[in-house]
Amino acid sequence: MRTLFFCLCCLLGTAPATLLAQSPVQKDMSKITLVIHGGAGTITRQNMTPEKEKAYQAALQQALQAGYDVLKKGGASLDAVEAAIHVMEESPLFNAGKGAVFTNEGKNELDASVMDGKTLKAGAVAGVTVVKSPISLARKVMEASEHVMLTGRGAEQFAKEKGLEIVDPSYFHTETRYQQLQNAKKEEKVQLDHSGDKGSLDEGIFTEGNKYGTVGAVALDAYGNLAAGTSTGGMTNKRWNRVGDAPIIGAGTYANNQTCAVSATGHGEYFIRSVVSYDISALMEYKGLSVQQAAEEVVMKKLVQRGGEGGVIALDAKGNLAMPFNSEGMYRGFVKADGKPTVLIYK
Ligand code: ASP
Repeated sequence: MRTLFFCLCCLLGTAPATLLAQSPVQKDMSKITLVIHGGAGTITRQNMTPEKEKAYQAALQQALQAGYDVLKKGGASLDAVEAAIHVMEESPLFNAGKGAVFTNEGKNELDASVMDGKTLKAGAVAGVTVVKSPISLARKVMEASEHVMLTGRGAEQFAKEKGLEIVDPSYFHTETRYQQLQNAKKEEKVQLDHSGDKGSLDEGIFTEGNKYGTVGAVALDAYGNLAAGTSTGGMTNKRWNRVGDAPIIGAGTYANNQTCAVSATGHGEYFIRSVVSYDISALMEYKGLSVQQAAEEVVMKKLVQRGGEGGVIALDAKGNLAMPFNSEGMYRGFVKADGKPTVLIYK
């Protein structure tokens, strides 16, 4: 009788509800993966010092460890992404959180976003100046508001109401970034994170040429769920409440369990116009490309043709990852189930 019922359901194309309820998602620790970036740009061996290289490697490894600790315990990809980004937001080495670049008015205005590949829910904030962790605020917007993106004072009001850590704007101030602003102002240009000549650790570790120090993470958890997050201070000398690609869902950040999770870094205006992160997902969805093929197509072909410098990290639901960039270097790294972190900087 049961068999008959089952066959009938199959014929009618409907699965019995009881059968569906009995198929929980299998936990598979073998696929857990975390990929991170700490910005792309003119990052070459020539303008790197051993101290500087070590400092970046240590910070990236710490971020990978923080996210891996979450995944290894069977935690959610969203938690891993947030944990990894926290480490980089708190490090002055990166243009996110503490160490963010300055606006033309001498302020730090932060942007961030996060997306859940399982539910396709997303949260984003732009132009916040007093919230210690913009990535946590973006997540709060996703989980505790009916909106996707909040900006400026409203976003900060929301952060206070939700009990997020509020800091004095001076928390984000670093002298090296402030000097970058003075240089950018002299040259009258809007600069992408670190601009200038070769630098040494003594002069400040941020002066090694054009670089986009945005941070990001993508993760796959043991339940097959993908998540992506990105956090940034944007561009040095930016004006008029300029917002980059980092908080724009589909441009700087995207996640969908059916395709991939992506976080981008680079010249935001180009990344917004090219809808970079969603384009990678769409190439997988509609054209059947692999995550590697799709990410290469967008970063190494489309963006190059359009003049958009930068890179992405991308990860699919099977744990395949891609980290293409069309600049000279990109701070990046990944860790898989074995827990052994890989950190890379140059081409
Ligand atoms: N994408 C960021 C922006 O344009 C910059 C960066 O990647 O560092 O705001």
